[in-house]
Amino acid sequence: MSTRRRTLLKVIVLGDSGVGKTSLMNQYVHKKFSQQYKATIGADFVTKELLIDDRLVTLQIWDTAGQERFQSLGVAFYRGADCCVLVYDVNVMRSFDTLDNWHEEFLKQATPSDPRTFPFILLGNKIDIDGGNSRVVSEKKAKDWCASKGNIPYFETSAKEDYNVDPAFLSIAKIALANEREQDIYFQGIPEAASESEQRGGCAC
Ligand code: GDP
Ligand code: MG
Repeated sequence: MSTRRRTLLKVIVLGDSGVGKTSLMNQYVHKKFSQQYKATIGADFVTKELLIDDRLVTLQIWDTAGQERFQSLGVAFYRGADCCVLVYDVNVMRSFDTLDNWHEEFLKQATPSDPRTFPFILLGNKIDIDGGNSRVVSEKKAKDWCASKGNIPYFETSAKEDYNVDPAFLSIAKIALANEREQDIYFQGIPEAASESEQRGGCAC
């Protein structure tokens, strides 16, 4: 009998409006890209199942509904996150400069048990534009920022050309899973019969 457990990992995607958060998720989950700009509508999150080290993992990826423009994302958005994906546009300096704010905002709102080790990942998106000629943030600058925040993994992506999207999300799933395993140690005393969400969420209200 297999005793394989299903693991639910909550991933939230943050960054300035227009950097390509929704497009990256669409490319990853639906293998689709649209040039048209539309504020995110519909579901709060999309899910994708994957197998990591023989473990079935459901990634629950939360998108903003465009509220990031007003910085009013509400507690439910941040609650219980296992990984925070920060996205900027390599062609827009401002979207890089605001990363500090997003990083800080996440820690303030999500209040993870250990802010120094909570898993973040940075994606520099839209590297396809103008063959890289309109790029204003160098890879080195981005990597330096990642190093200054405790060695955050960094990926350069193109949601449009489906470049590095799968590897980035696989890495996201792996670091979220590693973080979740650490928390499992804390829950070892709880009976197996309790579902994962009950174990992790605490109260159902
Ligand atoms: P969000 O506000 O961060 O969710 O950004 P969207 O995903 O809505 O994307 C904003 C705009 O950028 C849309 O017009 C997308 O088609 C476009 N876009 C997103 N990712 C890429 C990319 O990798 N390359 C190019 N050329 N355009 C992109
Ligand atoms: Mg969006």
